[in-house]
Amino acid sequence: MNRTLCIEKTNHAINALEQKRFFKLVCGASLTDVQMIENLCFVFTLAGAHVIDLAPKTDVIFAARRGIQKANSQKPIANSPVLMASIQLDKDPHFRKAAVDCKLCDLCSACIKICPTGAFKIAAFSEPRQGREDKKIIYSAERCFGCGICLSYCHVSALEMTDTKPAPVETLKEMILLGVKAIEFHFGKNIQKLEEIWDDVVRVCHGTEACCGMPLLSFSIGSDLLSDEQIKNAANLCYKLAGKGIILQCDGTPMSGGIDKKSKNSQNGNNKDNPGLQVAKIIEEEKLPVYLQISGGTNESSFAMANEAGINIHGVAIGSYARKLLMPYLNDLEDKETLHHAVNIARSLVNSTGGNNER
Ligand code: SF4
Ligand code: SF4
Repeated sequence: MNRTLCIEKTNHAINALEQKRFFKLVCGASLTDVQMIENLCFVFTLAGAHVIDLAPKTDVIFAARRGIQKANSQKPIANSPVLMASIQLDKDPHFRKAAVDCKLCDLCSACIKICPTGAFKIAAFSEPRQGREDKKIIYSAERCFGCGICLSYCHVSALEMTDTKPAPVETLKEMILLGVKAIEFHFGKNIQKLEEIWDDVVRVCHGTEACCGMPLLSFSIGSDLLSDEQIKNAANLCYKLAGKGIILQCDGTPMSGGIDKKSKNSQNGNNKDNPGLQVAKIIEEEKLPVYLQISGGTNESSFAMANEAGINIHGVAIGSYARKLLMPYLNDLEDKETLHHAVNIARSLVNSTGGNNER
């Protein structure tokens, strides 16, 4: 397909992909806490992230823009991050939220201790009822990014995960009008869904006045959802539909908090400990003119591990691991020393790919 990228806004991200030093911060396809998003975008803009991946919600995009603006008011940033919206096409692990049944909860606090984003707290009942504890668990759905960790810590099964509904294609138009210049599609196991909606995607992207053509496109291909054969088919279909210059996000274990690890296996070309790398290896063998970027379990060692394993990737996306490292600092960024420390942590992640070192 012949497509024109929004070159003037995505140039530096494409250069970083070309030079294999691309870094994407994943705020989270389900994270909608606007203060946390603004703070993360503030810190990672100062740290030099190329793209920031967000939930496709108006208030989320505004929060990201506020964070980027705030960073630019500290010091002018030559290339602010490109905003990417993650679009759900079918059931996919990135798009879900925890739900709590207060009637079952006995206030054990296990979920409060384990949730990486502090989505739970115990608060006093405003209307105490007779014979019942005068407190209850309060859950912030905005802070939940859907990792599912809390479920296994709840001893009374008061927690469950609920899938969110796929977004209509028209969401793309809304996102593009808000200044989003990159779109990531998540189709879960339903590879054919892409083919079904593709004409509409092209129509919406080309028909939206604020955009000079197609946005930078990315497709999430997950190891825990697809067989090796399906991974190959998905990669080929994405290329057939969208052409060269797309990003294929090789997704390992989504929202797992940076669990990638060096192992003897990976040195032998067996990447069972780093499933994102395994996806990249399978797609690399197809020799498609696309950019390969790993995600899902990634941390500051993931890019180096790909190189050591001889897998030719163009970049890394880091989400829950980045949030885990930054959470202790995000509410105190007005303090110069805290901000400095937070930006240094973020920069160490960005530079794990060679991020800021333009060649
Ligand atoms: S632990 Fe994960 S799934 Fe549970 S509330 Fe926190 S972010 Fe959501
Ligand atoms: S882990 Fe379960 S029982 Fe314990 S506070 Fe959380 S919801 Fe309640």
